[in-house]
Amino acid sequence: MFKWTAEKAAQITKGTLYGDSNIEIRGCILDSRQAQGGEMFFALPGERVDGHDYMDAAWKNGAALVIAEEGYFQRKGQMPCAPEGKALLLVSSGQQALQELARHWRLELGAKVVGVTGSNGKTTTKDMISAVLAQRFRVYRSKENHNNELGLPLTILNSPPETEILVLEMGMRGLGEIKALCDIGKPDIGVITNIGTTHLELLLTHERIAQAKWELIEALPKDGIAILNAEDEKSVQKSYADPHRSLFYGTSEGLVSPDIQGSQLTPKGTLGTEFQVSYHRQKEAAFLPLPGKHNVLDALAALAVGTVFGISLADGCKGLRELEMSKMRLELRPGIFESMLINDVYNANPVSMQASLRILKERAQENKTVAILGEMYELGSAAAAGHREVGQTVAELGVSALITVGALAQDIAYGANLAGYPQSQTYRSDTKEEAIRKAKDLLAVYGPGTWVLIKGSRGMKMEEITVQLERTE
Ligand code: ATP
Ligand code: MG
Repeated sequence: MFKWTAEKAAQITKGTLYGDSNIEIRGCILDSRQAQGGEMFFALPGERVDGHDYMDAAWKNGAALVIAEEGYFQRKGQMPCAPEGKALLLVSSGQQALQELARHWRLELGAKVVGVTGSNGKTTTKDMISAVLAQRFRVYRSKENHNNELGLPLTILNSPPETEILVLEMGMRGLGEIKALCDIGKPDIGVITNIGTTHLELLLTHERIAQAKWELIEALPKDGIAILNAEDEKSVQKSYADPHRSLFYGTSEGLVSPDIQGSQLTPKGTLGTEFQVSYHRQKEAAFLPLPGKHNVLDALAALAVGTVFGISLADGCKGLRELEMSKMRLELRPGIFESMLINDVYNANPVSMQASLRILKERAQENKTVAILGEMYELGSAAAAGHREVGQTVAELGVSALITVGALAQDIAYGANLAGYPQSQTYRSDTKEEAIRKAKDLLAVYGPGTWVLIKGSRGMKMEEITVQLERTE
């Protein structure tokens, strides 16, 4: 976290300062309620609320400096001024000022920066990278999912001066967005978890998605290193034409031979996984407190980043063992009739839904499985195909019963039936209430030891189903 005067912030942003120009500022907030003392608060115009309405609250809560937009005062016909002992900085665009200040702090900070993007697993991988690097370095990382044009500069501005490595999650919805984030964060190492089909709506083709993600690698300095998934076709293809050094990670099924290789993945404990990992002559037995191959791939990416900074596999694995996730993406809860619920309601796309279905099958020991699957949004013209693809996986895995929720999700049922999944095990519901009723009936029949997966896009609020199926006593 920088320690600047208001005057310095004014110089960097070329804004107009009112009030106490010598006041010292440290830390940065976008929500006036988070003020503790000495911060700069950005009054940003939002879709629902305007940050300018909270300027007084921010000062009152302890913020030292408010950065606001000139246009707001012009529209209101108000004279800009700051309370006694505080400062107000007027700029033409609050968002640009935030980004400009972050760009500045990134350079003053002198830390190495790791950028993480990809269709799935960015947050998970970012957290794992931090866990590995923290074995030897002072690491700061994006909080939770702060990966956009506001979250990324906010993360940078709040990183402490002693930070040695900064791990930044980078999200995108279209071409040019990662490039813009890199222009602020200036990554030295770039990690692409995979190039899938999450943001088809705005980008349309797989090639353009690949191009958009590759902006991260293009932004690296000459001696920057690309950490890539050996099992991801697009990443492998793109790497051929790129001059940067790349380090591949993967399991034995990779498209290219991985530098960091995981093998012998074995479920261990309720949701953990054991695996072997090798890098040149180093070999290590690893344990990850998370299930599924996709999480192991994310862990391998993290170990790969570790090797770049000279962290041995043994030390890296120690970090993974003690992993603390930003937010559990997948949790187990005891269900009614002695069932086990996999509550994976944070979000969904075809790739992550298929991954969770595999976990459902892998963990359910008695082969009694129910998948309650809701709609997946943001798939654009690929919506029908994406849902059917999931249905095909339901059929291939032989899940005992499939309950779909919502109109779009009917295509999951359709895809499953096309792939030979029996109609008699397929239940289409229009509402969550209907799905809950059906699930309760099935659980009563299947009895103890049944495992249930509950998953859908954020907007589906599938947790409302979980709550109704949970054991309460
Ligand atoms: P967002 O776009 O919301 O920021 P994200 O890319 O940060 O998502 P995570 O939040 O880490 O992704 O994980 C979301 C879900 O994606 C997880 O619950 C898991 O099911 C799945 N997932 C995680 N890693 C991978 C992976 N390497 N490949 C496929 N799916 C993955
Ligand atoms: Mg994320």
